[in-house]
Amino acid sequence: MMTRLTQLFLRTLRETPADADVASHQLLVRAGYIRRAAPGIYTWLPLGLKVLRKVEAIVREEMEAIGGQEVHFPALLPAEPYRATNRWEEYGPNLFRLQDRRENDYLLAPTHEEMFTLAVKDMYSSYKDLPATIFQIQTKYRDEARPRAGLIRGREFVMKDSYSFDIDDEGLDAAYSRHRVAYEKMFTRLGLDYVICEAMSGAMGGSKSEEFLFPTAIGEDTFVRSPGGYTANAEAIQTPTPEDVDFSDVPAPAQIHTPGAKTIATLVDGLNAEAAREQGWSAADTLKHVVLKVTHPTEGESLLVVGLPGDRDVDLKRVEAALVPAEVEPASEDDFKAYPELVPGFIGTGHIGPQGRKDEDGNSVITYLMDARVARGSAWATGGDEGGYHTINNVFGRDFDVDGRIEAAEIREGDPAPDGSGPLELARGIEIGHIFQLGRKYAKALGLSVLDENGKARVVTMGSYGVGISRIVAALAEEYHDEHGLTWPIQVAPAHIHIVATGKDPAIFEAATQLAEDLDDAQFDVIYDDRPKVSAGVKFADAELLGAPNILVVGRGLAEGTVELRNRVTGEKRELDIAEASQLIT
Ligand code: ATP
Ligand code: MG
Ligand code: MG
Ligand code: MG
Repeated sequence: MMTRLTQLFLRTLRETPADADVASHQLLVRAGYIRRAAPGIYTWLPLGLKVLRKVEAIVREEMEAIGGQEVHFPALLPAEPYRATNRWEEYGPNLFRLQDRRENDYLLAPTHEEMFTLAVKDMYSSYKDLPATIFQIQTKYRDEARPRAGLIRGREFVMKDSYSFDIDDEGLDAAYSRHRVAYEKMFTRLGLDYVICEAMSGAMGGSKSEEFLFPTAIGEDTFVRSPGGYTANAEAIQTPTPEDVDFSDVPAPAQIHTPGAKTIATLVDGLNAEAAREQGWSAADTLKHVVLKVTHPTEGESLLVVGLPGDRDVDLKRVEAALVPAEVEPASEDDFKAYPELVPGFIGTGHIGPQGRKDEDGNSVITYLMDARVARGSAWATGGDEGGYHTINNVFGRDFDVDGRIEAAEIREGDPAPDGSGPLELARGIEIGHIFQLGRKYAKALGLSVLDENGKARVVTMGSYGVGISRIVAALAEEYHDEHGLTWPIQVAPAHIHIVATGKDPAIFEAATQLAEDLDDAQFDVIYDDRPKVSAGVKFADAELLGAPNILVVGRGLAEGTVELRNRVTGEKRELDIAEASQLIT
C-alpha cells in the first residue's frame, strides 16, 4: 500500500505534549499515531491504526496456529451474567456501569469470561464438542484509578482474549501449554523482550497463572528474578503500601464463609488506608500478624492469620465474635505441622475473596478466607481490580514466630528466591500477556456442563488468556525509539519504506512517484513524502519521527541514476542504482 504525505491525515508536532511523561506516549502523539479523546481514551489515526492492525495480525496468526477460532462479542453487556459470578460487585469502581432507557443495568465489558462461558453453554452439550478454544480481538473498558502513559494504561483498550474449554484437568493443562508457547512465539515475532512470571492467582480462584512482562524502567509491575531462573511478579510476593490499596469498595456486611476445613481465614482488623496514610505508615508498618487456631463446629480446625495495626494487640474475644460460632486460640508449632501445605519457611495463603464489615467501634473488619492448598507465603490486604493482594515473603523464624507476630515484610533485593535458586534481583516491567487456569469457577457459576462418555454431566474446566494489543503498540514504541523519533521493527512498522523526494525538480518527483508505485506493486507498504514545498530538512525530520525502518531519498543523485537508502536505526547510508532500489529493501 502506498500513502502520499500530501494526502495522509497527519499533523506531526515538534513540541512534546504537556500531559505525556513517557517516551512512547510523547512520540505516538507527536508522530501523529494517536490523539487523546479523554483521560485514558485515545483515537487511532491512520498510522497508529496500521501498527495496531499489524500487531493484531501477528497475534491472530499465532492464535489460529493453536486452533483458536475467532469470534466477536459485544462490549456492551447485560449485568445478569456478571451478577451470577459476583463480578458486578467484585469489580468495584473499575467497572463502567450504565443503564438503558428502561433502567436495566448494563456494563462495558472489562473482560469476557461470563459471555464466553454462556456461549459455549448455549451451543455445546457433549464431551465430543470439546476441547474448544475461542478468541476475540476486541475493545475493553476499565475505569482505571490512574490511567497513565498513553496506551499503556488506558480506560478503553484493545485486548486479545481467548478462553479454553475442556472436560478434564489434562485438557486444561494442554490448552494452557499451547497458549504459553503461542505467546512466546508472538512476542518473539513482535520483537518484544518478555519475562514469564509466576502471577498471583488470588481472586479468580484459579490454580496456575503466569504473566508475560515486558521489562522496562517505566513499568508499574515489579518482578523478581534469581540467577537460577526463578521469576515472579512481586505483586504476588510483596506487601502493598497503603497507596496501592483501595479500601473504599470493600463489600459489607461481613459474612464468614468457610469453603473447607483446611481454610486459613485472615482478618485484617481496623486497618484504614486513610488513617494509615495520614500517619505516614506503610502497610508493612501498619500490620502485624498473629496466627491463631480456629475450631469451627462444622468446618473443623483451621489456621487464622490476623493482621492488626502495629500498635494494637490481638483481642481474641473480638476475633471470636467475628467468627462465631468458632473458638479461637493461639496456634502452636504442632498446628503448623498439621498443615503440610504450609511450606516450611513460609506461611501459605491464597485468598478467595474479601468479606468486610464494621465492628461495634465503626472500624472496618476485612476478612479473607485462605485456601492452604494454594499456599505460598503469607499476609494480605485488599484492593486492586480483582479484589486483593497477597503479600508474602514472611519467612518463618525471620519475620515471625509460631505464636508471635508476623511483621509483613517487603521483598528486598538479595532476598532468597523461594525455590532456593539464589538471591532475588528486582526489576520493573509492563504486563503484556496473562495466561490463567480458571478451573471450574465460571462454569459452575453459570451452569456450564457437558455429558461425558457415560452420559454423566461434568462441569467444564476453563482457561482464560489475555494479550494487551494496544498496550503492545506502546511497549514497542518504548523499546524502539531514539532521540529523533520512532524506530519500528519492520514487521509492525506502518510502512516498510519512507520515500523522501527532495528539491523542486519535477523529474525528481516523477522518478520518486514511479519508485513508490513500483514498490507498492512489489507488496511493500510505502509512505511517499511528495510534499512540493517542504524543505528537505523538515522531510528528513518527519521521516525520522514517523519511524519507518528504511528511508529512501530521491534527490540530486538522480542525475547519475542513483538514490540513497538510509537505515533508520543505524543511520547507515548507501547509494543505490535506482533500478535496484526495490530489490535491496528488506
Ligand atoms: P495490569 O496488571 O497492568 O493492570 P491486568 O492484570 O489487570 O493488567 P488482565 O486482566 O490480565 O490485565 O488483562 C489482560 C491483558 O490486557 C494484560 O496482560 C494487559 O496487557 C492488558 N491490559 C490490562 N489492563 C489494561 C489497560 N488498562 N490498558 C491497556 N492494556 C491493558
Ligand atoms: Mg489491572
Ligand atoms: Mg496484572
Ligand atoms: Mg493480568
